[in-house]
Amino acid sequence: VPELPDVEHVRRRLQRGAAGRRIRRVRVLSPSTVRSPAPGRFARLLRSRRIAGVRRRGKYLLLHLTGGWTLVAHLRMTGDFVLAPASRPLAPHTRVVFSLDGREVRFVDQRRFGHMDLVPTAALGAHPALRRVGVEPLSRAFTAPRLRRLLQRRRGGLKAALLRQDLVAGIGNLYADEILFQARLSPARQAGDLSRAELDRLHGALRAVLRRAVRAGAGGEWPARSLLAVREPGGACPRCRRPLAVRRVAGRTTYCCPACQR
Ligand SMILES: [Zn+2]
Repeated sequence: VPELPDVEHVRRRLQRGAAGRRIRRVRVLSPSTVRSPAPGRFARLLRSRRIAGVRRRGKYLLLHLTGGWTLVAHLRMTGDFVLAPASRPLAPHTRVVFSLDGREVRFVDQRRFGHMDLVPTAALGAHPALRRVGVEPLSRAFTAPRLRRLLQRRRGGLKAALLRQDLVAGIGNLYADEILFQARLSPARQAGDLSRAELDRLHGALRAVLRRAVRAGAGGEWPARSLLAVREPGGACPRCRRPLAVRRVAGRTTYCCPACQR
């Protein structure tokens, strides 16, 4: 499931390969992928607009188009944007095809949960989903005091709080586990109970893990001291070598080291 670093990789791919180019034609092969407007109008509105730039907000991709429109896309479980020469046969599960000059941007999505909306750029701030997206963890705005304010006196579990997109944007199950491992905090802790030192450690780990994942690139290797490198049944903690625990926390399969994470 794509999380912030994965969506950021897709954003960079689109920015490199599609920004500055004009959309010649749009084919909606799977109407349920386009939520609004209706697929016919969606295709007409996009035709002959140029992709001015590609941004990311949390797990949303924003393709800014000339003429005041923005394509807002969410990859959900299996969605992906791939660039391909127009001559290459379509991959299975291709849902929407944007033809540029000679090349295509193809939205491929096996599970079909991914979706896109075409929204007037001026109305983006009022978009119901985007309005709820919390602070960008790699932005300057995400300081240690900001995280302290978000979690202090919050009821409920720490891992559940990390997964909430309206607090800190872009963290999913895998990176939440990695961040908690690096911060040496148990996923079962209560968010509101962390000490100031623990909150500062969490802030540092959160930034470091996401920054490293963005830098590593798609399919990048995990360093030996990361939980993600050993995250499987029977895996051993990279720090103390004891067996990892697998638990259900915040409704998600959670890996942690009961000895290192307190
Ligand atoms: Zn350990």
